[in-house]
Amino acid sequence: MKIQKVGVVGAGIMGSGIAQVFAMNGFDVVLHDISEERVQKGKSAIEKSLGKFVEKGKITAEVSQAIVGRISTTVSLESFADCDLVVEAASEDIKLKKELFQQLDRIVSKTAILASNTSSIPIGTLAAATSRPAQVIGMHFMNPPPLMRGVEVIRSDATSDATDRAVVELVKQLGKSPVRSRDRTGFVANRILIPMIREAILALEEGVAERDDIDRCMVDCCNFPMGPLALADLIGLDTCQSIMKVMADGLKNERYRPPQLLNTMVKDGKLGRKTREGFYDYRS
Ligand code: NAD
Repeated sequence: MKIQKVGVVGAGIMGSGIAQVFAMNGFDVVLHDISEERVQKGKSAIEKSLGKFVEKGKITAEVSQAIVGRISTTVSLESFADCDLVVEAASEDIKLKKELFQQLDRIVSKTAILASNTSSIPIGTLAAATSRPAQVIGMHFMNPPPLMRGVEVIRSDATSDATDRAVVELVKQLGKSPVRSRDRTGFVANRILIPMIREAILALEEGVAERDDIDRCMVDCCNFPMGPLALADLIGLDTCQSIMKVMADGLKNERYRPPQLLNTMVKDGKLGRKTREGFYDYRS
C-alpha cells in the first residue's frame, strides 16, 4: 500500500520529532494531542528544530517553511480518518495506549496501518485491542527522531508480512535504518539501556560516586557519547520510570523496578530536560 498521509498521536518529545521526520520527507502529517496548548508546544518544538537545520545550512528557510506547511494539528482523533498510517507516540502507559488503539481502529480506514512508538509495551498487547492485528506494528524511533538513524521495527505474532514490508520500506524511505526486535517487553534498545540507567541512578542513590563522575565514567572510560544520567534527563524521567515499571511487570523481575530516587524526582516534577530540571539543571 502507498503511504501518503500520516497521523501522529502525542505531540511530546517523540511525537513532534516523528511528525517532523515524516514532513521532512514529503509526507502530509496530522499531529494530535489532548489540548491545543500541547499541540502548539509540539509544533513550536518542530519549528525550533528546523531552525537549527537552517542555521547549519542543511536546509533553506523556504524548505523549512514548506515542511511546517505539511504539518496540521488537531485535538480530535477523528482527523485521522484519511490517514494511511498512524504512529502512536502518547505517554508510556499500557491502559492509555490500549484505549487509543481501540479508538484509532474505529476511526481509520480498513487498510490503514497502526504503529506504536512504545519503548517497552509488547505490540501484541496493543494489537489485541483492535480488529486489525495484522496491520499493527512497532515503529520505535530514537530520541531525537530527526537525528537518530535507527528505528526498531517490531512485528507481533499477528503482524502480516505485507504490513512488515511496508513499514520496513517506509523506514528506509525516511533515510533511516530498520533494526529488528522480537515482540518482547523492552525490545532490544531498552532491554539494554534502561537497566544501565537504573544502575546509574542506584549508584548515585547509594553514594558510589557523584553525578558527574558517574556520567564521566561511562563517557571517558567506556566511550559512550553521553552519560546515563544525562541520557535519562533527555529521555524524560517520567518516561524512564514508566518503562521500568512496564519491564518489571512484563519480565516479572524486580531488578527492573524504578529506584526510590527516580520515584521521588518524578513526584517532585523534576522530569529532566522537558521540565528544565532533572539530574542536571537546564534553567539558566
Ligand atoms: P512526552 O511526555 O514528551 O509526550 C507524551 C505526549 O503524549 C504528551 O504531550 C501528552 O499530552 C500526550 N498524550 C497523553 N495522553 C494522550 C492521549 N490520550 N492522546 C494524545 N496524546 C496524549 O513523552 P515522549 O518522550 O514523547 O514519549 C512518547 C512515547 O514514545 C512513549 O511511549 C515513550 O515510551 C516513547 N519513546 C520515548 C523516547 C524518549 O527518549 N523520550 C524514545 C523512544 C520512544
